[in-house]
Order: sequence, then C-alpha cells, then structure tokens
Amino acid sequence: MILENLPTLREALEAHGLMAKKAFGQHFLLDLNITRKIARLANVGEGDHVIEVGPGPGGLTRALLETGARVTAIEKDERFAPLLQEVADVAPGLTLVFGDALKADEATIAEGQPAHVVSNLPYNVGTPLLIKWLTGPWTPKSLTLMFQREVADRITEGPGEEAYGRLAVIVQATCQAQRVMDAPARAFTPPPKVDSAVVHLKPLAERPSQQRLDALQRITAAAFGQRRKMLRSSLKVLGGEDLIAAAGLDPQVRAEVVPVDGFLALADAWLARR
Ligand code: SAM
Repeated sequence: MILENLPTLREALEAHGLMAKKAFGQHFLLDLNITRKIARLANVGEGDHVIEVGPGPGGLTRALLETGARVTAIEKDERFAPLLQEVADVAPGLTLVFGDALKADEATIAEGQPAHVVSNLPYNVGTPLLIKWLTGPWTPKSLTLMFQREVADRITEGPGEEAYGRLAVIVQATCQAQRVMDAPARAFTPPPKVDSAVVHLKPLAERPSQQRLDALQRITAAAFGQRRKMLRSSLKVLGGEDLIAAAGLDPQVRAEVVPVDGFLALADAWLARR
C-alpha cells in the first residue's frame, strides 16, 4: 500500500477546496499521530473489517488502513468523494459508501461477518448511532468512538457519579465500556468548543434480549426523567412500590444511585407483571 505517497491531509483539503461544515459536525483530526493512536486503541489489524462513520478528509481512515484492516467508510457529505477516492485508488482495502450512517444497514455492509466500528463521530448524531449499534439488530465486535468529553462521561460513569444516567445504564447493560484517551479541543481543525475523549466498548457475549432492552429503555426513561425523585414516585405509573419490591430494591432510593443490575431487575419485574 502506498498511502505515504498521498498528499498530507491539509494539502488534500486545500487541493479540493474543502472547508469544514458546521451542519455536519465537522471537526477534523489532521495529525496522523493522533489517528494512529486511535487505530491502536481499536486493536484492529490484518483480517479485520472496520466500519468507519464520517471519514471526512480521511485521517482516521488512513491510520486504520495502515493496520492492514479492511475499511468501509460511510460519509454523508459527498463533497469528500473525490478526495476519498484518491485514498481508495491506492488502498484496495477501502470501500466508500455515501449516505446517512443512521440509515445504513450494517449487517449488509458487513456481509454477515463480524465487523468493528471506529469513528470520530459527528456530535449531532453520535448518541443515536451508539444506541442503534447497542440495541439494534446488528451488533459490532467492538466500538472505538470519539465523543465530546461530557458524552464520554455519560457513557462510562457509574452509580452515584454526576453523569450516570440512562445512557450509562443502556451502554453498561450491553457492553464493557472504558474511556481510553482524552483529546483536547485543539487537536481538531477547526477546534470545537469542548474537549473530547475516546471510548472503547466491547459488547457482552450475552446481550440482554430485545424485549429486556425495550423494558430497560422504558424503566430508565421514567426513572431518570425525575432523577432526584425516589423510585417509588418516578416509577409510580409502571408499578410503583410493588414493582420495586419485586426487583428487590429500596423504594426510597433515587435513580442516580441504582446500579445497572438493579435496573435490569426492574425491567425483569416489569416484564413479569405484563
Ligand atoms: N473522521 C474525520 C476526522 O477524524 O478527521 C472526520 C470527523 S468529523 C467529527 C465527522 C464526520 O462525519 C464528517 O466528515 C461529517 O461529514 C460526517 N457525518 C456527519 N453526519 C453523518 C451521518 N449522519 N452519516 C455519515 N457521516 C456523517
């Protein structure tokens, strides 16, 4: 592969007259040392298939290809097509798909084989994409994702911590989640208003059934909708004290300190009563 003969990312952006577009959440990583570090943290290589959302100018794409992995990159902004085609011309392992990743059918893209997801996610669709990959019909082998730091906290924090909430419960009921790298705003071009962090997620071998996940979404929506209220009040419409007793929890406790297992027990108790 002759990736090293490509122009630098800055040169490529300039040659194609491309500027970042705010509407697409575009903040680029132009330092290959940073993108190579993300590729290392993703722990992918020869024989792996990576689905990358939002390649933009292709810095992370180049780093992923350098590992020997095959990459399918899904980009919504077609302005990047000629620039990315130049990368694909020298890297036969790269397949380009232009469209909205929220609507992508990953099972078809992965051709029924396991695939990893690696992305410097666009801020506006990062959380819905994560929920899709964790609770939808297709499950990735691993996910290595750059988020705003505050979102990374909402994914990885535990009970009693400030950012613990619905997202943490859904993520941690389906995955092992770890914050593996911090990236200051100045690492991006143009720099966003906030710092970012990379989260590595490994889906559990035994993911809760779709029915349990749907129940968990329902319970956590009610419980964290009123996070400072006691469960007996926030879960009143879903079964109140009886439901909480069936789950073996204290009705006076608040959602923000209930562990993930507690929410799964509530989901099971709610399903058993229907
Ligand atoms: N991966 C590049 C990098 O690290 O320099 C760009 C990252 S930038 C934060 C997010 C990228 O996602 C942009 O290229 C943007 O056009 C693309 N994007 C935004 N929304 C998208 C969507 N719904 N589906 C696919 N790509 C999207």
